[in-house]
Amino acid sequence: MRRIALITGGTRGIGLGIAATLAQRGFDLALNGVREPAAVADVVEQLKQHGGNVIYCQADVAVRAERERMLEQVNTHYGALHVLVNNAGVAPKERKDVLEMQEESYDRVMNMNLKGPFFLAQAAANWMLRQQTSVPGFRGCIINVSSISATVASLNRGEYCISKAGLSMVTQLLALRLGAYQVPVYEVRPGIIATDMTAGVKEKYDRLIGEGLLAQPRWGLPEDVGKAVAMLAAGELAYSTGQVVMIDGGLTISRL
Ligand code: NAP
Repeated sequence: MRRIALITGGTRGIGLGIAATLAQRGFDLALNGVREPAAVADVVEQLKQHGGNVIYCQADVAVRAERERMLEQVNTHYGALHVLVNNAGVAPKERKDVLEMQEESYDRVMNMNLKGPFFLAQAAANWMLRQQTSVPGFRGCIINVSSISATVASLNRGEYCISKAGLSMVTQLLALRLGAYQVPVYEVRPGIIATDMTAGVKEKYDRLIGEGLLAQPRWGLPEDVGKAVAMLAAGELAYSTGQVVMIDGGLTISRL
């Protein structure tokens, strides 16, 4: 049986890089996002060219009823879920110093980047445990896309850093809880990746990369993250639950 992967934020940026790699490697896909289905129809069609099944689930990950409806849609269409990739995430609308950060921005970023992904993973984990007992040979997997911001502090987007640090603990908690049930849980931690999210700060990062910020002096690409997720989803790091996979071109290597 082909394995089913649900990728939040899966129709552009890093999520699309993950979707394309998983499609090439024989997964059937459920792609989530907030845009209207018509806006992503071309992307869905392109991904189907790899020979698998692809559905789109429009849902706001921060809203419980929409998360529940999304999982129900996956269940109705596929009747199974093997891999959850918690990828969707947002940056603060406005970068403000940590002493000026507003509660509205904190709530928006935390609900979207931490609370939503945690409760989605919780629901997916419970579903995977039910499949584990009813489907012989079932193998699940949960992958959280965090950021180097889980450990690298940026004073002008503290709410983002806090949310990603929290997601790191979500990975460890679920890895510990699900370790005995063939459901490894991983964190993938990208650095500077060329997507819509970083388009507005392109010049700044071009300059920093030019000045030697990275050991590998180039922007990361969505497929760099996609390949790491595919390796994890395929079970090639099966005895490493709870681990962090860095995709940052060496940005976080300490230097003297
Ligand atoms: P992006 O290009 O801005 O895309 C964000 C995706 O998330 C879109 O597909 C969007 O859906 C979806 N999304 C936003 N709000 C949502 C919501 N409420 N419910 C469901 N989906 C929602 O971002 P990206 O750069 O690919 O980032 C993907 C992940 O990687 C994020 O978690 C981000 O924090 C993390 N990350 C990015 C970088 C980087 O340098 N780019 C570095 C480290 C970590 P629509 O397409 O429908 O709008």
